Amino acid sequence: MDASPSPAPSNFVRDIILDDLKSNKYEGRVQTRFPPEPNGYLHIGHAKAICLDFGLADEFGGHTNLRFDDTNPEKEETEYVESIKADVKWLGFHWDGLFYASDYFDQLYEWAMKLIKDGKAYVDDLSAEEIRKHRGTLTEPGKDSPYRNRAAAENLNLFERMRAGEFADGSRVLRAKIDMASPNLNMRDPVMYRIVHAEHHRTGAKWCIYPMYDYAHGESDSIERVTHSICTLEFEDHRPLYNWFIQQLGIFPSRQIEFDRLNLTYTLLSKRKLLQLVQEGRVRGWDDPRMPTLSGIRRRGYTPEAIRNFVASIGVSKTTGVIELAMLEHFVREDLNKRVPRVMAVLRPLKVVIDNYPENQVEEMDAVNNPEDAGAGTRKVPFSRVLYIEQDDFREVPPPKYFRLSPGREVRLRYGYFITCTTVVKNASGEVVEVHCTYDPATRGGNAPDGRKVKSTIHWVSAAHAIDAEVRIYENLFTKEDPNQVEDGQDFTANLNPNSLEIVTGAKLEPSLASAAVGGRYQFERLGYFCVDLDSKPGALVFNRTVALKDAWARVEKKQGAKS
Ligand code: ATP
Ligand code: MG
Repeated sequence: MDASPSPAPSNFVRDIILDDLKSNKYEGRVQTRFPPEPNGYLHIGHAKAICLDFGLADEFGGHTNLRFDDTNPEKEETEYVESIKADVKWLGFHWDGLFYASDYFDQLYEWAMKLIKDGKAYVDDLSAEEIRKHRGTLTEPGKDSPYRNRAAAENLNLFERMRAGEFADGSRVLRAKIDMASPNLNMRDPVMYRIVHAEHHRTGAKWCIYPMYDYAHGESDSIERVTHSICTLEFEDHRPLYNWFIQQLGIFPSRQIEFDRLNLTYTLLSKRKLLQLVQEGRVRGWDDPRMPTLSGIRRRGYTPEAIRNFVASIGVSKTTGVIELAMLEHFVREDLNKRVPRVMAVLRPLKVVIDNYPENQVEEMDAVNNPEDAGAGTRKVPFSRVLYIEQDDFREVPPPKYFRLSPGREVRLRYGYFITCTTVVKNASGEVVEVHCTYDPATRGGNAPDGRKVKSTIHWVSAAHAIDAEVRIYENLFTKEDPNQVEDGQDFTANLNPNSLEIVTGAKLEPSLASAAVGGRYQFERLGYFCVDLDSKPGALVFNRTVALKDAWARVEKKQGAKS
């Protein structure tokens, strides 16, 4: 079968699949699975795995199952199952089969009995601690357990009694009988089953023994006739065990392929650590817009397209690296730039009075909705005598290279007029609270008939028409590129950024935003991309900043700061 041309460059996983198709290893079939453990919400790292699993199967006309790897009853919950399903759909993928490792508990139990009968598995009475001590190290072989050579009949009896609930948690395990001297520690009689008297989110109290990942995973792949089982590199050393179980049982030979997991600067991608942030109240929940979870970045306004483009561009490899968070943000900007409407919003308002503009006059200015999309049309924005501009767009004493409004300086109001600052009004503490200007009526729409130029265009909102909003500005959740890098005795929470959330109340928005609906995305001109948060209510809008625009002035200021 010839692969149709793919937009993304090829990668080694795809090449393996192509080889298997060429040699007809799986009769031309490609089947993958995405196997999350329902012990937390999916994060952007999982998006990479999802895009690979579903993307490759789609490319070759294959199938992908969503399979919940639910073998740790104490950590797994239905809430997580539901969130994972929603996140996969949101990313734009559709699973063929929906399965749970727990669907296979009976089959896995039967196969374990077969391995016992064949002398390939045994019940061990050693404690977890003793098993660890017997395992040896990378340089020393392990030691056999005194229970290793139990007769099959005794093992069968004990295993059945483990299942029947006769023994306490941790008192016995079932182990595969492989090779205690193997250079690969995973092959030193790995544990297959442990006793856990716990309620399972699907099977309830039916089981009190649960299969370990290494036993359950490959066998579940095989049951579903998965051809290519794509997982992250930490499982590379588990592949011999994956293959060993399949060979001993003589079942469908699924093929495990490992790729590099995604790491991002200033970000933690571990469900366990993200859960800790939620439980300790460090964030507002799994869907806090600062979280790297799919639900968090969705709430923040990231699009599935941006994430898929990002994943495609980072590729897959056999060595683990760290990707710049800025690169993800680049793809978010690139996607939003094409599709979202522009509006004018002032986050930190400064009142501007245009003294020579007629009182009570209102003009409707034509504004372009999206310069990147001619079909997006135009809208009317009301202009009047009293406006708001950003505090940042005025300096009483302008520093070098600052071209925005200052006394005596003329600037352009976007879609409006040229204005010149005449005087300022200060409060008792000397802060500028109001700026007075004059406007040139001949510059309506933004150009002077005499061709004179201004060096700056600033945005504004008419005070009488403005609507109020709360705007939540997010910065990186962690201050260190590698949040795991800590001093002795600290954990990663020591690197949390205390300023990762800034709540700006009293922002002023152009009136067209009165009808903005939850989830709606906009570019606030000159500021960045924003979306309407779930907490919004009619008359009390709340926006999240999805990502800032690249701010040219901030860069100049930073450079100047660095020099002085
Ligand atoms: P975590 O440590 O965050 O819990 P996990 O690997 O235990 O991650 P699973 O639910 O077992 O999470 O993962 C489901 C699939 O997603 C696996 O195939 C796993 O390899 C993949 N995956 C998890 N994290 C990443 C990541 N950062 N980059 C790429 N793939 C990932
Ligand atoms: Mg896991």
